[in-house]
Amino acid sequence: MFDIQEIRSQFSILEREVNGKPLVYLDNAATSQKPNSVLEVCHAYYTELNANVHRGIHTLSQLATEEMELSRRKIQKFINAKHDFEVIFTKGTTEGLNLIAYILTQKLKKDDEIIISYLEHHSNIVPWQLLCERTGAKLRVIPIDDNGVLQMDHFDGLLNERTKVVSLNQVSNALGIVNPVEEIISKTRKNTNAYIVIDGAQSAPHFTIDVQKMDCDFFVFSGHKMYAPMGTGILYGKQEVLEDLPPFHGGGEMIATCSFEGTTYAGLPFKYEAGTPNVGGNIALGAAVDFMNKIGRENIRNHENSLLEYAQRQLLEIEGIKIYGEKAKRTGVVSFNLEGVGIASDVGMILDKLGIAVRTGHHCTQPIMNFFNIAGTVRASFAVYNTFAEIDALVEGVKKAQRMLN
Ligand code: PLP
Repeated sequence: MFDIQEIRSQFSILEREVNGKPLVYLDNAATSQKPNSVLEVCHAYYTELNANVHRGIHTLSQLATEEMELSRRKIQKFINAKHDFEVIFTKGTTEGLNLIAYILTQKLKKDDEIIISYLEHHSNIVPWQLLCERTGAKLRVIPIDDNGVLQMDHFDGLLNERTKVVSLNQVSNALGIVNPVEEIISKTRKNTNAYIVIDGAQSAPHFTIDVQKMDCDFFVFSGHKMYAPMGTGILYGKQEVLEDLPPFHGGGEMIATCSFEGTTYAGLPFKYEAGTPNVGGNIALGAAVDFMNKIGRENIRNHENSLLEYAQRQLLEIEGIKIYGEKAKRTGVVSFNLEGVGIASDVGMILDKLGIAVRTGHHCTQPIMNFFNIAGTVRASFAVYNTFAEIDALVEGVKKAQRMLN
């Protein structure tokens, strides 16, 4: 049974007030709140277990290692990876994408092509631009239509023998558009030998993920957007792909042998986990997976979709509101502007005074804002603990902002 009050009771922060009003937290696409079970695991790690992993013979080090490796296996199941060593701990999606773009350097040459989409977060644009600078490769972009939907016929035309990487998000953070990654992957596989990279920052918190079925080479996401602590994230890579590619960072943990004459590298996953990891955070990411599994990812998604449906309906009753992105293809996010209100942050500031947290601005997706010829939007984004009453508060707040700003 989906009991929203029981779920909310697991998030102490939701009881607080902001500016004298009950907190209405609708900035989940930026980062989610963390349930007490996750916070308790962090606390327990530092009060009972703190030690460096994989290095010590002593008991605490062994216990910390076991806990972190248990978490890795939970995440393996969460995304249905074939092997636990295909799951690499990172500090987030940005690090994962930069890592991939860096280790592919030797695989690309001048005039090779990298396909991304118009809907990407800057972290799935800039690392590829840097790779292009290093190699002379060229960036190709799948365009969008006026509803923010990828123009798939253009994608077909972009695929060719020079295509070496196809990288896109499963869900757009700015608009909430769900991209047809299955179709993109199957067409890419059929027509090229390109590496396929999926940015799951906005899908992992909401969808059931199956990287084997998806047949991507890489899948990256951030823990902090799915109820885990800041500074946690995952890079999944197919075994044969990761084994064929060079390391990223050099340092402790990632070597098999090291001498001044030369170094050999550790096997997966350690080859990509140089230095001391965020042990407590990585263990707590496993607890976040437990939290989501307990509720059920279908239930989480259904609830969030009902919230979106309700928000969309209520907001559209406001005269002069423009919501961006095709409704039927969106999840978890509503991104809008008010006619006559030039600056989205003005709306955000009024909502903040009412205790309502939303994000305003370009959402690290300036190309999308340029496409719509706007500086930014107001974005409300949902998580499992949000309620219909909170949507009502948002709608009332937007109406108030409109009255004040017009
Ligand atoms: N990709 C998408 C689609 C995102 O929404 C975000 C963050 O908002 C990122 C990448 C970057 O994630 P992080 O800042 O956690 O590295």
